[in-house]
Amino acid sequence: PFLLSARALSLKPSSTVAVTSRALELKRAGVDVISMSVGEPDFDTPEHVKAAAIHAIESGKTKYTPVSGIPELREAISAKFKRENGLDHAPDAVTVTSGGKQALFNAFFALLNPGDEVLIPAPYWVSYPEMVALTGAFPVPVPTHAANGFQLDPQALEARVTPMTRMIVLNSPGNPTGAVFPPDVLKAVAEVAMRHNLMIVTDEMYEHLVYDAQQVSIGTFAPEHTLTVNGASKAYAMTGWRIGYAGGPKAVIAAMNALQSQSTSNASSVSQYAALAAFQQHEETTQFIGMALKAYRQRRDRIVAGLNALGLKTPTPQGAFYVMADTTRIHPDELEAARIILDDARVAVVPGTDFAAPGQVRLSYATSMDNIEEVLRRLDELLQKRA
Ligand code: PLP
Repeated sequence: PFLLSARALSLKPSSTVAVTSRALELKRAGVDVISMSVGEPDFDTPEHVKAAAIHAIESGKTKYTPVSGIPELREAISAKFKRENGLDHAPDAVTVTSGGKQALFNAFFALLNPGDEVLIPAPYWVSYPEMVALTGAFPVPVPTHAANGFQLDPQALEARVTPMTRMIVLNSPGNPTGAVFPPDVLKAVAEVAMRHNLMIVTDEMYEHLVYDAQQVSIGTFAPEHTLTVNGASKAYAMTGWRIGYAGGPKAVIAAMNALQSQSTSNASSVSQYAALAAFQQHEETTQFIGMALKAYRQRRDRIVAGLNALGLKTPTPQGAFYVMADTTRIHPDELEAARIILDDARVAVVPGTDFAAPGQVRLSYATSMDNIEEVLRRLDELLQKRA
């Protein structure tokens, strides 16, 4: 028998697995489970993007590309950073990865040493602490609270800085909270980073999915201290194409490229040409984003109102496509609450356990309005039965 590495053994088994496998079991048994747990747009990839991929295949763009991505795409991303984010990243300060996830993974391995500490606002996306821990660094959660819409307090963040702190991870709009950090908060966080010489890794995957708030890139306040990570998955409904990217200080990008050159090499060539169309055919892409945003907003308004009316307290998120509902009315333990919701209401949700969100579950509203209405009806039925 082979012994697994300490690294492999250190990975925390996901507590969502139990709920996910139970959901699959129920589905296989013919139960009509509604999934509110997936983190991907329910829209198809836009036509102009698909057409560009088909054209790329037919014209033989099917070979290795430079590790950091085709030059046209890096130029388009450089222009996008300028146009949409006010960031100055020359094409050689940009890298293309196999999904936003790989950009984050490369960034952590390029920047962290064992023993370093990394500040991460909680609730957080599960992969941040896991990836950070894989490098041997320590994730340090900075709590935020549902009562004020999970806003980040820069003073609470700074209070956790120690001589070992190396990095701040930000995710705004955030998964799972939907919180969008306003410009004054981001400016204050940038000042903390500059005061203590910390690197900021900002994950802006959900930048286009913002409702009533203003989305600003923290890199505009501390360009030398910021690596901006983004990707095609959520904005252009391209989760399966696996295109992410990052822009930042050249030395950091070069280290990320070196890591990638010894692991996965370039992101899929066909996907790169598809993403290129998403950036270059700006008008079609803007139209697509506008259509999606309008639908998400209607769904958000409906699900937030519906959950609160049921007594499942849910703050109104300002961005992304998730809500966090307080399920202590159903069960004080969120794992148990998620299990009850699945077994008795046939709705799959994600317990907050792995996000550091006790007493709450996450529902994704990247699904049809009909599904949302049916989920609210089922939850109502469940609560009445248990009353
Ligand atoms: N960052 C956040 C906050 C996410 O929610 C996700 C996907 O769920 C990712 C990154 C990963 O995106 P990608 O599909 O580009 O790897």
